[in-house]
Amino acid sequence: MNTKEIIDKLTKLKINPKIAAFVEKYINAIPMVKREIEKQTDEMMIELEKSLRPYRDDFESYREIPTNGVDKEQVIKDMRAIKEMESKRWKEGYVSGTVYHGNDEFVEFLNEVYAINSQSNPLHSDLFPSSSKFEAEIISMTANMLGAKNTRDTICGSVSSGGTESILLAMKTYRDWARDTKGIKKPNMIVPDTAHAAFDKAAQYFGIKMIRIPMADDYRADVDAIKKAINKNTILLVGSAPTFPHGVIDPIEELAAIAKKKNIGMHVDACLGGFILPWIAKLGYPVAPFDFSVDGVTSMSSDTHKYGYAAKGTSVVLYRGMELRNYQYFTVTDWPGGLYFSPTFAGSRAGALSATCWAAMIAMGEDGYMDAADKIMKAATTIKQGIRDTPHVYVFGNPLWDISFGSDSLNIYEIMDFMTKKGWNINGLHKPSCIHICLTLRHTQEGVAETFIADLQEAVAYVEANPGADDGLAPVYGMAATLPLRGVVSDLLKKYMDAIYKV
Ligand SMILES: *Cc1c(COP(=O)(O)O)cnc(C)c1O
Repeated sequence: MNTKEIIDKLTKLKINPKIAAFVEKYINAIPMVKREIEKQTDEMMIELEKSLRPYRDDFESYREIPTNGVDKEQVIKDMRAIKEMESKRWKEGYVSGTVYHGNDEFVEFLNEVYAINSQSNPLHSDLFPSSSKFEAEIISMTANMLGAKNTRDTICGSVSSGGTESILLAMKTYRDWARDTKGIKKPNMIVPDTAHAAFDKAAQYFGIKMIRIPMADDYRADVDAIKKAINKNTILLVGSAPTFPHGVIDPIEELAAIAKKKNIGMHVDACLGGFILPWIAKLGYPVAPFDFSVDGVTSMSSDTHKYGYAAKGTSVVLYRGMELRNYQYFTVTDWPGGLYFSPTFAGSRAGALSATCWAAMIAMGEDGYMDAADKIMKAATTIKQGIRDTPHVYVFGNPLWDISFGSDSLNIYEIMDFMTKKGWNINGLHKPSCIHICLTLRHTQEGVAETFIADLQEAVAYVEANPGADDGLAPVYGMAATLPLRGVVSDLLKKYMDAIYKV
């Protein structure tokens, strides 16, 4: 057996992750095995690098600042040409998530708003009070959409740069709150395994131990297991509305009741759902309570740059009570640069993004959001039914508009590869293996949902007739999903990031 075969065998082995990590340490110490793994990942990287630099031959690459400034008209011309090549797929509705509105006229409007505000910076609230106005109103509008009216508590928050920052801010806040009010020095947080990777990031950045609890059979958080995992160092529980992978809403009421009883935090990650679930509920679809109307929910993240239809770069983090938000704030009083404070991670920020977010929200209005939610849910109904009518594949759980599906008889990644060849860009997920499509306004265009189902049916028929074809990414996904040596997978991802930064 050569090393490649050993690696193949390892991929198929089911071993305990802790043992795998142990084995990995020793395997990596064997130079021959290490070399073989590197050879294989390098081969993968060559292909990936090519796909990352499609313009290398057609446009100038700058390794150094050009001696003479490039003609501005040329800059604009090149960028327009590149944009033209890049926008077709998402514009026509072939992409999962990513661009949530994307209508030409609406984008023009946002661009105009950005241009008007392009020099403003919320760090200088004295010079740009308009930024403060926009942000205060974004937070208030978001809070009132998310149950602030149904509680006596003050719901307050901040505008951040995106879902990840909103989550990081909330986690830092709980860490400092628990240290200050409960003396907890070794904090842990209990998180369903379907919660967004941003919680892992927070755990790594802020030294919070992450206790991941496997999802229940319905793909939602396992309340009993979470309850059992709580100990004296637990500072918060997390639930998603809905989860990114499978689009299902965790049992927020149950989790919040437990959190309240234990006097710990309860963060609801509504990055994906915050700006669409309220309208879906209002349309009459069944949506279990998930916001501040639920007693015990102490914070939420909700992305304006997703279904709020703002430009990329804004999100809202909300807290129950001003006391909690105080733990998020940063102040320095003795710096020679003067008195310094900033509510979020960044110092200077793009006031234009907040202005654009504010403009998107008031221009959409309740009627605009309702109409968008209605269209998205109608497309989702067509797609869910279409998947259910297709042999070999089935929908995971009971999602609303972010729909994951898998197969017990076919390799779902081969189905994804076929869909990719048809122009689709849908997400490959794992543990368990599935793919998902997160529907946006792009998918509500005439015929998109029907094309998706027709292509899916063709894909299933093709893979059924030709199983095991390995000319796409299916083997990479397969390996990444099942290889017990997670360090190898992690290194591969790091190499990919290196490739992103290559000129
Ligand atoms: C998108 C998303 C996030 C992270 O948001 P970014 O804006 O990409 O940082 C977090 N949680 C869920 C459920 C999401 O869908």
